[in-house]
Amino acid sequence: MRLDDSRGRPLRDLRISVTDRCNFRCTYCMPREHFGNEYEFLAKEKILSYEEITMIVSSLLPLGIEKIRLTGGEPLMRRNIVELVRQIRALDNHIDIAMTTNGILLEKYALQLKEAGLSRVTVSLDALENEIFQSLSDTTNSVDEVLQGIDCCKRLELPVKVNCMIQKGVNESQIIPIIQHFSQISITPRFIEYMDVGSTNSWNYDSVVSGDEMRKIIGQEFGQLEQVESNYRGEVANLWKIQNGSEVGFIESVSKPFCGDCSRARLSADGSIYTCLFATEGHNIRSILRMDASQEQIGDAIASIWKNRNDNYSEQRGKVETTKDRVEMSYIGG
Ligand code: SAM
Ligand code: SF4
Ligand code: SF4
Repeated sequence: MRLDDSRGRPLRDLRISVTDRCNFRCTYCMPREHFGNEYEFLAKEKILSYEEITMIVSSLLPLGIEKIRLTGGEPLMRRNIVELVRQIRALDNHIDIAMTTNGILLEKYALQLKEAGLSRVTVSLDALENEIFQSLSDTTNSVDEVLQGIDCCKRLELPVKVNCMIQKGVNESQIIPIIQHFSQISITPRFIEYMDVGSTNSWNYDSVVSGDEMRKIIGQEFGQLEQVESNYRGEVANLWKIQNGSEVGFIESVSKPFCGDCSRARLSADGSIYTCLFATEGHNIRSILRMDASQEQIGDAIASIWKNRNDNYSEQRGKVETTKDRVEMSYIGG
């Protein structure tokens, strides 16, 4: 079945934030000034159990969902996360189950995740130079720990991608080393434009390095890049080929918005559905779940939310003012 929103976009992809907590404090996502010791994370009783999350996924299977992404916060911080992968895999053998992680705990869990049925992993890594990495992620962990997690996935043949968020004046110097390192081990790095998600990271246009600017930096090192056909409709990354034969992706949601193909819904850790990354409000599903709603009733509730969906924030950026705070990326799931 295909369930379309009011702009004709099907629901294909559900991103699930399994926790709003994280072992990093990336300055562009969870700045410590805001997410410090005083910050109140979600109380345990508000967080969906694995059985509740699995119930929501099962209610969406008849509506045409094809992909699940476990994210957060840091998904590997949630206790026994492998069990959630196992429960979702038990629902459907073919559904694509991915995870986005900062990679620190990946070496520890990669084998169990693969055995439980995880299809692939996306590791976020913003710098290879340890000093830049530690300052941007506001952590004492090291780049080597993340690289070991990536190597472990490669050894286990668990498909792995690497995402790197670039912020002006902070880590543009890492673009070339990242391409050099990952092309040697056949991983396509994808560079993400810094986005105005949430309300705590003091984002402004001047701190964005556009995809065009990144390609200019890459071109100066490797020569002219050539654009490659995308693998499928709705692919968020634009792929380009470098003259040495390796590929690089760009997620250009600020300079080249892709709302027209956006088929993603998001489920927050406390059970609200958000129809856009830049939403200010979600739709509470937890309360109907906890009133013993059937799988069909939950599916109907989400279907009616999706049918009314009209979001295209990135296409409107800068044109429409809102007075409400947008939800944080760590809560809604990246
Ligand atoms: N903790 C996990 C991680 O870092 O991979 C998963 C959650 S994190 C919110 C998901 C992705 O969002 C990361 O790749 C991160 O770089 C990206 N992200 C967070 N804030 C961002 C922002 N303001 N602009 C662009 N990307 C951002
Ligand atoms: Fe944590 Fe990921 Fe946000 Fe960094 S980007 S603070 S690792 S949730
Ligand atoms: Fe999708 Fe909203 Fe991003 Fe547009 S701005 S691509 S609708 S999440």
